[in-house]
Amino acid sequence: MAEIRIDRLHKRFGDFIAVKDSSLVLEDGKFVVLLGPSGCGKTTTLRMIAGLEYPTSGAITLAGDDVTYRRPRERDIAMVFQLFALYPHLGVRGNLEFPLRNEGVPRAEIERRVKEVAAILRIEHLLGSSVNGLAGGDRQRVALGRAIVRQPQAFLMDEPLGTLDAEFRELMCVELRKLHDRLKTTTVFVTHDQNEAMALADHIVVMDQGEILQADDPHGIYNFPATLFVARFIGRPPMNLLVADSPVVRGDTFVRIARRNITVPQVDAPAAVGVLGVRPEYVSLVGNDQGCLGGRVKHVEYFGSHWVVEVETEAGTIKALADKTARPELDLHVGLAFDTRHVVLFDSATEKLLPSATTLAHQPGMRHG
Ligand code: ATP
Repeated sequence: MAEIRIDRLHKRFGDFIAVKDSSLVLEDGKFVVLLGPSGCGKTTTLRMIAGLEYPTSGAITLAGDDVTYRRPRERDIAMVFQLFALYPHLGVRGNLEFPLRNEGVPRAEIERRVKEVAAILRIEHLLGSSVNGLAGGDRQRVALGRAIVRQPQAFLMDEPLGTLDAEFRELMCVELRKLHDRLKTTTVFVTHDQNEAMALADHIVVMDQGEILQADDPHGIYNFPATLFVARFIGRPPMNLLVADSPVVRGDTFVRIARRNITVPQVDAPAAVGVLGVRPEYVSLVGNDQGCLGGRVKHVEYFGSHWVVEVETEAGTIKALADKTARPELDLHVGLAFDTRHVVLFDSATEKLLPSATTLAHQPGMRHG
């Protein structure tokens, strides 16, 4: 187990910058997910940690050792890829034994570790099988087994669940997390799927266009998105974002939106034109003349456990979650109330979260700079 540090990591491919000046501390024993849209630089970052790609500048340390320019086999790290190639001629046992034989581990120790890993992954009954006829989930378990049998200092996983169908993916998410809780090996996991990230991570690193936008625990990422991009990217339905009519200044406790005063946590920033953010579950439907804004129900969607209600207001469309028992009527005029404790503000010019009484009370779960 080991702490991984990346310090001012930068990667160019010709003129194109794939990773920009990124610094992070991935704490020992944590499950860290690199999350972002396609092309944002997640895989390139992971490949640099693995040694499959060298940075243009910057440094990577593993358990305090500078490994920036070491070859992959000189780093005590195991990779699990999306399209993992199991050796077809070796069978399940042979695949699990392979990395240990390669390292010259004594026979008795190989037997012990393979047995232990097969028990952890519940594939003992498959040890005598060929890998060719295995179902997707079992193949994945054998691939994971081959990675964990080496007991490396860290696991690097690049969309390892990407090829599985939705049901299997959920199952494997639960298994992976349980496995991590048991082994506590530092893990870096790449995905573009926010549900996977939320389910697995101790810490999430949100990236876009080669830059780290935020690094925090899932609660911090969800409730205190560092930028408008993160606010839009995380959460379904997404956060409601409403542009204020006039700037806010330090000490303000309300913003003007559609000529109404809307209460917000006390602003602790110099003057800025604000964008108010509130997640749909913190918007409730109230009587027509109540709440901070009003509008007309224009669309409803049933999710079994709740309704998602779209209300057309002067400030734009606002989504709210409503109780499963009451179907909101189309065209009904309703009031909307926001739970002020869960309202955040962004600076419309920089697109960054504005400091306020609630955001300042939050301590990010992860270090980055
Ligand atoms: P995806 O999920 O689609 O793999 P990603 O976030 O992992 O996305 P990367 O694979 O890290 O993104 O790629 C980041 C950018 O760098 C992309 O625009 C990609 O085209 C570019 N890139 C990656 N590898 C190379 C390379 N060897 N040569 C040139 N450009 C590259």
